[in-house]
Amino acid sequence: MRNSPITPFEFRGKFFHIKRDDLLRPFEGNKARKFYYFYKNEFPEIKRVISFGSNQSNAFASLSRLCKIKGWEFIYFTNHIPTYLKQNPEGNYLESLKNDAKIIEINLRGDALREYVLNLKDKNTLIIEEGGRIRESEEGIKILADEINEYVKKNNLRVFLPSGTGTTAYFLAKHLDVEVLTLPCVGDEKYLKKQFCMLGGGKIPTILSPRKKYHFGKLYKNLFEIWNELKNAGIEFDLLYDPIGWESVEYYNLNNILYIHQGGLKGNISMLSRYKRKYKI
Ligand SMILES: *Cc1c(COP(=O)(O)O)cnc(C)c1O
Repeated sequence: MRNSPITPFEFRGKFFHIKRDDLLRPFEGNKARKFYYFYKNEFPEIKRVISFGSNQSNAFASLSRLCKIKGWEFIYFTNHIPTYLKQNPEGNYLESLKNDAKIIEINLRGDALREYVLNLKDKNTLIIEEGGRIRESEEGIKILADEINEYVKKNNLRVFLPSGTGTTAYFLAKHLDVEVLTLPCVGDEKYLKKQFCMLGGGKIPTILSPRKKYHFGKLYKNLFEIWNELKNAGIEFDLLYDPIGWESVEYYNLNNILYIHQGGLKGNISMLSRYKRKYKI
């Protein structure tokens, strides 16, 4: 769950340092950091976890594994599961089914869904916000910061990572002595600022805007091509966030950065099959 390696990576003729949180086990990526607190500590009162979000979410699969290990019931609300996925479970959805997640489709979204789930709280129930946007994730992300702080200072690097809820970027910025750069992949800059504010405000990461507006989870051939090029260069990254991240690294000509690989490879299975069906690749 900690001390992932930092490996060298050459992409489009430039050199980068990569923090390989994708190699963490039994959880991988930033979800390993976010759920570290719950994994490490005892919660005698807790019998179940309730969360919500998309059917493809990496947090969904990681939480199902956490609950399996802990012996907790896991209930997950989502507003839509595509028929294709129901008939052909794969990726994070399959992983969650295997871990006995109770998946409930509900006709609510956004703040209404969030309110609904938050109201289900009782003394035996832990509510985990969408994507793991919770203060408890600070403990694990601080450990990540401690693992890289000396390295980035010694090598004169800034830290870069693409954001969803921004939780990882926020707590990294809080605990690192160097600049943290990020960009929103879900929502826009305003959304990300609001997330930082909800997490406590204060020192926040530098926000870059993506080269163009992408709808989260939608398929874009140019993003697939970047992903494929990265893979051919030697590292498989995630298909939802990282192609937008790497496009920005190039667009803003960022040098001397440590790029945080936040995992997400299980989610690639269903994204790849969607790409294959859409573009016949
Ligand atoms: C969850 C996730 C993110 C987003 O993390 P936030 O802390 O919500 O910003 C980015 N990349 C991958 C691969 C993820 O699984």
